[in-house]
Amino acid sequence: MHVLIVATTHKELIEILSDWKKKKQSVGLVPTMGALHSGHLELLKICHEDCDKSVVSIFVNPKQFNNLSDYEKYPITLEADKKLLKENQCDLLFAPHHDEVYPQSFSPIKLDISELNSVFEGPFRPGHFDGVIQVVHRLFQMLEPQKAFFGLKDFQQCLVINRLKQELHPKLQLVFCSIIREESGLAMSSRNRRLSDEGLNKAALIYKSMLHVKNLFQQVEPKDALGFAKYLLEQASFEIEYLDLANSDSLKPMEKWQKKGKNVVLAAVWLEGIRLIDNVQF
Ligand code: AMP
Repeated sequence: MHVLIVATTHKELIEILSDWKKKKQSVGLVPTMGALHSGHLELLKICHEDCDKSVVSIFVNPKQFNNLSDYEKYPITLEADKKLLKENQCDLLFAPHHDEVYPQSFSPIKLDISELNSVFEGPFRPGHFDGVIQVVHRLFQMLEPQKAFFGLKDFQQCLVINRLKQELHPKLQLVFCSIIREESGLAMSSRNRRLSDEGLNKAALIYKSMLHVKNLFQQVEPKDALGFAKYLLEQASFEIEYLDLANSDSLKPMEKWQKKGKNVVLAAVWLEGIRLIDNVQF
């Protein structure tokens, strides 16, 4: 039976990591907020194949929630998560308490991400990416991984983390993994657990409507393709925050199609009081 080490403090980590370092074992990190699903497990699988030791962190980071009720309602399923991690060959679960991540001596780092923060998630979630930067930087500091694994489900977050790597962790390798979806096409998310059965069925329309945009690539103007997708969602009583086209390198919103491979359509919508995001690249 595979052994999963569970650590909650930085002190415990130092011992475990120095042992691995002595043995010249490479470390891969998958940062999560828990309530694990197959999307997280896919990141772990890729990490496990790529590195000698795989570490998953579970920490519901208050600094990245701009909405207190979203934070308070965030699902916590630690025992089930441990079982899944063990079954999926994870070597170390790091599940720190708040004060380990943010001790009294904590001083936030400053990273200029203004142009990335002015589009899509940025204006709708003030302070969110700053919170992500703080926690991911702390995790990189504490775990010193050689590689870290993130999901393209959070497309904008991947670009922000890439900036963090370039500025402060140049030696670290980042791996961005494809979006894992339910059979219906709905992108897996811990927040899906809060949807009713009817909501879960309905939420499949997010991806379906975005696929229409992809299928209309260069057939009609982007605004008409996006308009059609928005119409479908609004008819089904989704509330749309954004559903727009951007260049996938810069994340600048675009009115014209980009060349093949450089288009990304990003969406954030509300259903049953739950905010869901997704994206499609083409
Ligand atoms: P979270 O626990 O939501 O903070 O997510 C932890 C990591 O898992 C992030 O890098 C996410 O982008 C990634 N992730 C979450 N859902 C999915 C998914 N459906 N497919 C791929 N990666 C995902």
